[in-house]
Order: sequence, then structure tokens, then C-alpha cells
Amino acid sequence: MTKLKSIFIALSLMSLFSGYSFAGKIKLDHVEPMFWWTNMTNPNLQVMVHGKNISDCKVAIDYPGVSVERIIGTDNPNYLFINLLIDKSAKAGTFDLLFTDNGKTKANYKYELKERRSGSANRKGFDTSDVLYLLMPDRFSNGNPDNDSVDGMEDKLDRENPDGRHGGDIQGIINHLDYLQDLGITALWSTPLMEDNMPKVSYHGYAISDYYKIDARYGTNDDYARLSAEAKKRGIKLIIDIVTNHAASEHWMVKDLPTKDWIHIFPEFTNSNHCKTTTNDPYVSDVDYRRNFDGWFDTSMADLNQKNDLLLTYLAQNTIWWIEFADLGGVRIDTYPYNDTEAMAEYCNLIMDEYPNFNIVGETWLSSSADIAYWQKGAINNDGYESGLPCVMDFPLMDATLKAFNEKESWNEGLIRLYNSLAADYFYPDRDNLFTFLENHDTDRVMSIMNGDINKFKMSLAFLLTTRGIPQLYYGGEIMMQGRKSDGDGVMRIDFPGGWEVDARNAFTKEGRTDLENEAFNFQKKLLNYRKNNPVLHTGKLKHFAPENEVYVYFRSNEEKMIMVLLNNSDESSKTVDCKRFDEVMAGFTSAKNIMTDEKLNDISSIEVPAKSVTILELY
Ligand code: CA
Repeated sequence: MTKLKSIFIALSLMSLFSGYSFAGKIKLDHVEPMFWWTNMTNPNLQVMVHGKNISDCKVAIDYPGVSVERIIGTDNPNYLFINLLIDKSAKAGTFDLLFTDNGKTKANYKYELKERRSGSANRKGFDTSDVLYLLMPDRFSNGNPDNDSVDGMEDKLDRENPDGRHGGDIQGIINHLDYLQDLGITALWSTPLMEDNMPKVSYHGYAISDYYKIDARYGTNDDYARLSAEAKKRGIKLIIDIVTNHAASEHWMVKDLPTKDWIHIFPEFTNSNHCKTTTNDPYVSDVDYRRNFDGWFDTSMADLNQKNDLLLTYLAQNTIWWIEFADLGGVRIDTYPYNDTEAMAEYCNLIMDEYPNFNIVGETWLSSSADIAYWQKGAINNDGYESGLPCVMDFPLMDATLKAFNEKESWNEGLIRLYNSLAADYFYPDRDNLFTFLENHDTDRVMSIMNGDINKFKMSLAFLLTTRGIPQLYYGGEIMMQGRKSDGDGVMRIDFPGGWEVDARNAFTKEGRTDLENEAFNFQKKLLNYRKNNPVLHTGKLKHFAPENEVYVYFRSNEEKMIMVLLNNSDESSKTVDCKRFDEVMAGFTSAKNIMTDEKLNDISSIEVPAKSVTILELY
């Protein structure tokens, strides 16, 4: 409430000051993006300049290949938006962005155009050949205790507080890239590392207070680029977490709004109703529709109005800036269905036009495949909406998996949930671009749902890693870490044991893990590395057979290999599966190798699957 009021007061003060000009120089408080690159596909660049009464100034540039297309003032005199055209002849270098008033120089910004990385436009985004590892940087590992608390940032180190800052940082991640590579990870998604300078609960990073700066408690922008480079050396793509829906109420841009409609403002704090199905609900009320999109996610998060073209360009350029600066391998967009639909389609298109082989996944947290498919690029929607989002998150498959292995088999419970969830794939225009997972930083940890049962761990993980999709794991899952959302968000995000030098044990090492944890870790590592080296599990055709006698069987195949997966969901009995039923796939195959145990099977006319277990075979 107070935050909102201060925004309104700031708005009224701004109108009082408009037209007033200082006699001296103007301090440029912000110029964003701070620099750009030559040879981008899109020759247009919008530079946002923020400084007291900057709008009184004229702008001049003298640099070969760069011209000013348009200068846009807004209802706030402290902003100018300068649209530049950078043609292919422009060379890397620095030019003056000169601000004058009545012939007098008021400000000068040395604008740099950097040489674009070679091959940048063709960079590949994450795809089904990858397995992503999601981590929360504050909770993974503390590689630099010197940055745990930072002057000028109110939220200081408080490791005892589940919602406090625990000191994890970029150096901590870099220190464990070998661990991730060894585990078989090929892509790393960290929750936001940009500055979140809120006074409390800032560790999650989703209330961004500076879109162009890594939070000093994690490191510097250069540390982030170094993380990406070090990851790349180990075959790991870095995925950035982008928040387009909201900005921290402490963001300078929110405290001095570039335009009156930059954020959604209500007479009093108005929460989003979190009713994302309003998007395509044929009976929706206007009030609900508006509250989903325009309501605030939280009091600390001002809801951005992506319909404003200046803002949309700002956001898209910011994403491109990070991709280019840190050489990234993918983007994850937070709270996707809370953003304006048309604007986000344009946002995605701006990025994909710049990087045609790239990938963007949106957090499409909806409960049915039909609702989620609406948001995927290529969907033919009744309302004519054309999304630009390539990859969507498969929440229904997560729900199905968490239930299936905890249930007794029946016509509508247990394994049939997996079967039915996949059968609903016909909704999706691009089934090769579905993001799959069992847990993330906002859900119960899977092993809490599975009550720490290692059999269920193996079955659910094996399913995730062998069925279709782009799998994502969550840090600590490999040692079956537990945590319930009902005990508070911080509990699903506890520190990885051994990430801090003072920790009693180091679960990053074999010696630091319990026997049970090693069993889970080794299972995951073996399967991940198998998956990594076998394209049949990336792009192989999936064919599955309806669960029968408590067993679900499916195959992945390509020209080189045929993989057979058998899941026995019975708590009590081992099952002998007669393979006659699978003739349409198995004809011609006579033997097999168990990829987890390396055991050979010389007769595959029937296959034995122990109770509550998974068997993964390569057929010959
Ligand atoms: Ca630290």
C-alpha cells in the first residue's frame, strides 16, 4: 500500500516539475542498454535515457552506419527514448550520444557498439537432447563469503532464516560445474541472478530491481559471463530466468515511471486473481480477465504493462542483451500467462527472429494440456491467438507422475494417468518442445510426495528421462532432498549440504552422501549419461501400450536403436510380461541388454519385472 501511494505521489510531483530545466549539466542516471553490438539481425535499437529533465534536450550522434530514427519523449520529462538504426556497415567502436539544449552541451554518453560474437545468431537453444538442472543460487553453494552481505543492500546474510539470504553465489555454481558435468547435466537453469534489492525475502530473485545488473551478492555481470563460458566448456548451456510480468517496487523505473501506463495502477493494491484460465474462458467476466493480467503478483512486484510498446521493446532488448553478453543457451520466462498475450507473442518473435535456432520456455502453470497448448507457437486457437512461445511447461505430466506411483492400479488411477497425460499430446502443435519435470522451486519436492521411497524415486525419474520431452531436474533431487510447500517456500529451497565450507557433510562427494543417497545419485548419473549419449531418447519415436496387469510398457526407437521401458507399479508382486502384445514393435528383436545393470537377456518373449520397479532395455 505504502509503496503504491509513493508511486502516485511521485507521479503527481513529476507533472509539477515538467518543463523545468536546470542551467547546468544533466546527470544521466541510466542509459539502457548500456552498450550494444554491431551486425545484429534487427538493425533497430531503442536506447532509454533517464536523467532529470532530459526531455528538454536535443540528441546528436555522428558515427558511420548509425543514425537517429526517432526521439520519443513521454509524459515524464526525465526520460527520452532514442531509436537508432544501426546498419550493416557500422563498425565496432564508441560514439558520443550528445545531449544539448539551446546549443549548450547538457550531457554526453560514450555509447559502445561491440563486435558481435561469431556464430551468435545461429546459437542453439536447449532441446530434447538436453537435461536441465534448476538451482536457486542463494541455496546451492557459497563460493565467496565476502559477498554474503553487501553495503547498501538491506537484506543481509541470515542463514538461520528459511526466507533469508544464505550466501550462495555464482562462484559457488562455477565450483560445482564439474560435479554437474559428471552427473550428466547438459543445461543449467538458475533462478534469477539479476539484482533483487528488496529489504526482505530477496533470495528468490523474482522482484528484480535492476534488469541489467547481476545482484552483488551473487557476483558481477562478468562473473555471470564467466559462469556461462565455464559451463560451455563442459557441454552445459546456461539458461536465463527472465521476469517480464513484474518488476520490484524498489526498481528505479517503478519509482520514477517512464510513462503513466508503464505499470498497472489501481486505486488500492490489487492482487492478481491467479486465474490463468480466464485467458480462454468463454464465460469470463471482464473484472476477472483484467485482474489476472493486470493485478499485481505481490505487493513487492509492480505489474508491468507489456502493451506499452516502449516497455515491450525494453524487455525484449534486455533479454537479447543478456543472450549476447553472456552467450546463453536458452530463456525461461516467469509467470507467462500473467503477461499480455499479444505483447508476449511479439516479444518471443523479436528474440526468435534474432536467434532462429534458440529456445524459450514459458512458465505455463496450468492444469490441462488444452490450456497449456494455447500458449505454444503454432497452436490453432479458437480466438485466433497466435503465440510466439516455442516451448511450454508440461505441468499435467508432473501431476500425473506424482500421483501414479503412489496409487493402486485401477481403470482411472495409477499408471493410466501417465498414459492419458501423454495421449492428450494431440493438443500440442510442437510435441518436441515440451518441458518436463517432477519438481521445481515452487512445488513440493518429489521425494516428500514419494515419502522418501527410493523405488518410487527410480520409477519416476526413469519415466521422466525416457519418455518424450525436455527433462528438468531440481537441485538436490539427486540425493532425494525433501521439502513441503506447506512448511514454507524456504523449505523447498534448503541449502545443498556441502555447499558451505562450515557444513557438517559434503553431499557433492561420494563420501559425504549416505548409502541411500549414493544409490539414488548413482542411478540418476547412470541414466543421465546414457540419455546424453543416446539420441534415441532425445528424438526417438514414442509408442506406448495401455497399462495392463499393473505394468506400463513403452518404446523409443530410431534407425539405430530400440529402447523398451517397463514400469511395474505393483507394491507386492513381480510381473512376468508376455511380449506377444508388443509384436508390432518387437518383431525381429530377439535379445536385450538392461541399460542400468548391463545384464543380457537372451529370451525376450516374456520379461520379468520386479515389484515397484522399472526395467529399461536396449533391444537387439
Ligand atoms: Ca557468497
